[in-house]
Amino acid sequence: MKNKKETSPLRYLPPVHEILQHENIQSISREKSFPYRYVKKIIQQELLKVRKALEQERITITSREEAVDQLIQQILPVLENSIYNLRPLVNATGTVLHTNLGRARLSRSAAEHAVNIATSYSNLEYDLEEGKRGSRLASVEGLLAEASGTEAAMVVNNNAAAVYFVLAAFAKHKEVIVSRGELVEIGGSFRVSSIMEESGASLVEVGTTNKTRLSDYTQAISEHTSMIMKVHTSNFSVVGFTESVSSKELKGALKKENQRDIILFDDLGSGSLFPYEKEGIGEEPLIRDALNNGADLISFSGDKLLGGPQAGVIAGRRDLISKLKKHQLARVLRLDKMTLAALEATLFDYVYGDDVKESNPTVRDIMKNEQYMMKVTENRIAQLALEEVSAEMEPSFSKVGGGTMPLVNLPGPVMKIRKRGWNAEAVEVFFRTQPSPVIGRIKQNDYYLDMRTVNEEEWDYLKTVINQLDKEEIQ
Ligand SMILES: *Cc1c(COP(=O)(O)O)cnc(C)c1O
Repeated sequence: MKNKKETSPLRYLPPVHEILQHENIQSISREKSFPYRYVKKIIQQELLKVRKALEQERITITSREEAVDQLIQQILPVLENSIYNLRPLVNATGTVLHTNLGRARLSRSAAEHAVNIATSYSNLEYDLEEGKRGSRLASVEGLLAEASGTEAAMVVNNNAAAVYFVLAAFAKHKEVIVSRGELVEIGGSFRVSSIMEESGASLVEVGTTNKTRLSDYTQAISEHTSMIMKVHTSNFSVVGFTESVSSKELKGALKKENQRDIILFDDLGSGSLFPYEKEGIGEEPLIRDALNNGADLISFSGDKLLGGPQAGVIAGRRDLISKLKKHQLARVLRLDKMTLAALEATLFDYVYGDDVKESNPTVRDIMKNEQYMMKVTENRIAQLALEEVSAEMEPSFSKVGGGTMPLVNLPGPVMKIRKRGWNAEAVEVFFRTQPSPVIGRIKQNDYYLDMRTVNEEEWDYLKTVINQLDKEEIQ
């Protein structure tokens, strides 16, 4: 009787070094300058998968050649993918600030500036005129002042950190009054009440979910009150009988009650330097207006409507910002130089650029109107020559995303992609599993590509993917 090893198909599996020498593996490794150890790891990983499949009798192999073919067939597509887990993809969902897909994409100038600063030494904390230590925030602070009229500004890792910082610095062991209509949770991980608890501030809830009046606030003021916090309810909307109190009214009341030490803090969430509302899109407050309306401090995200890198900006009264700059947490929450560079370039375009609608991808994509989107979509469909796939234009809308302007629909058509014999799920998998993945959306058993968030360069690639789908076998 033969032993198990001799009869098992496992004996056909080639050793790693033999696969490494295979001409297809050699040529792709050379072409893409893959490090040897990386290729070896992929081979080992795929070899293990084939071994498992054989053991579980999911596949059959009857010769060494067959085993090699099987392996090569499995390894090549893996090597076609990026060597990094984090990789670019095509966002064809139309959602401009898609949190799962990285929110705002940077402008060309912001990305270039970040790369330059990252790969060189820089004057990050060095004053070139004086020849001594300088401030790492000086340039961003100056640009924010130009863009919004703020007295001073401070930047940390994200807006969640900004809110935490403001609360910890000014409201620890003290009370903060917040309207019940503004106790929001954003993205499942940022809850105003939890952040407040972490910071050591105690929350004093006033009003109800749909109505909070000025008297609710003023009656809650005590000797322990350090702050009134307004939270922009960016990811939901209470419709119907609602009442809320503006910063202006609150500021007026604080003055009247001679409560000048109570800080009025407005968490804008998104905040914007571009007048979307004036252009007919949403009701997002301008940063300048939020400051003019009486807030002592405001905070907002760098990678929402601003269209920059992930960051949290705190702006407002100089004396308060000075305290933040000297606080221990400033060091804990401080920004990296790449982010600062990207933020500087993003803000520079708002202040000095010829047209931020052109240079900033977030502003540009949100501002594309329906006629423009129809023209682009029509034109792109006309570039396709398909047999088994159909691409049709259908009226629809895109979303801003990132929890911003939830009620706003940005009108524009989508491309409905159908492949004969395939269902929408199969089409979705096909696009998503490309070497450069394409993420579209499924609605009512159909697959859609939204051109709003697909630039020309990406379209050139996406076109080849659609053509490839056309050539796939009918399932
Ligand atoms: C998005 C948002 C935050 C959190 O900002 P991140 O930059 O994502 O940390 C906080 N508050 C409000 C109101 C928001 O909309």
